[in-house]
Amino acid sequence: MFWRWKIRKKHRDQERREQKDAEEGWRQQIRDEKDEYDRRLKEFRSVFKCHVCGKPSARPYKTISIVWDGEYDGNRVSHESDDWTRPDDLVRCSQCQNWTCQKHLEEDLCKKCGEKL
Ligand SMILES: [Zn+2]
Ligand SMILES: [Zn+2]
Repeated sequence: MFWRWKIRKKHRDQERREQKDAEEGWRQQIRDEKDEYDRRLKEFRSVFKCHVCGKPSARPYKTISIVWDGEYDGNRVSHESDDWTRPDDLVRCSQCQNWTCQKHLEEDLCKKCGEKL
């Protein structure tokens, strides 16, 4: 009977190895996605910064879209995605069109334009 046990063990070990490989691949994918996000965020922050103090934007603008989950059940779920074309915490000055942080913005004008008034 010992040989039967050995065959079962061989299969079990193989299954476990495959599972481990799959998990490792999955973890690697998450790491890659995170790296990609960090890289993108770094690039984003080098582009979008306050033109008065140079403070970079903390994060991209989040767009929340409502999508229908399933065709018939009518469940609505909100789907969040990053809009990399605009920052969440900076506003364009209505006069000079430069990105401005809240600290250097009054209504729709930046500090620089305000001082020139
Ligand atoms: Zn600023
Ligand atoms: Zn301005």
